[in-house]
Amino acid sequence: MIGFDIDGVLCDFVHGFRQVAHHLNPQSKVYSTGGQLEWDVLADSDEEEDKIWRYIDTFPFWLNMSPLVTPGEIQQMTDHMKQREGILYVTSRKEKGYAIEQTVDWLAKHGFPNPDAVISARDKSPVIRSHGMRAFLDDNPRHLREIEGTEVWVRDWKYNRLVEFDHLPRVSSVGEWLRSI
Ligand SMILES: [Mg+2]
Repeated sequence: MIGFDIDGVLCDFVHGFRQVAHHLNPQSKVYSTGGQLEWDVLADSDEEEDKIWRYIDTFPFWLNMSPLVTPGEIQQMTDHMKQREGILYVTSRKEKGYAIEQTVDWLAKHGFPNPDAVISARDKSPVIRSHGMRAFLDDNPRHLREIEGTEVWVRDWKYNRLVEFDHLPRVSSVGEWLRSI
């Protein structure tokens, strides 16, 4: 069994979030995950960020984001599942506002394998451990470093090039990861 984080690995959450920011304030810039430079800085102010989160709950936000992977990589994931082992999606997205239902629909809409296999968890480590995952790919491995028997890999982005992750293996795409594990 292997596992994927969703935001910053499979889905361009930053782009979706910035589109809402721009919708609410046309002066706000739209950029993608690759254009994000710092952790957790999604808006110009806490007030703006709160406003965006409130707006997100009023429409199917989670259903309408762009993938960060190509159709070829999704096919690679499908082949991996058929030929090698199970796949699970573990996300810190919350149940609030039907986010998880929309996440399952989003995975299905883009043809990801096993789209129902989404687990929402604030702390991902117990989920990864209890499923005996041999490898997990995340863009924020902060809380995932001490899982015995699981290789934690970092999906490389500008914002996560931090010294604290230097010991973890890093890939710049899902396709590269599947070829490496
Ligand atoms: Mg993430």
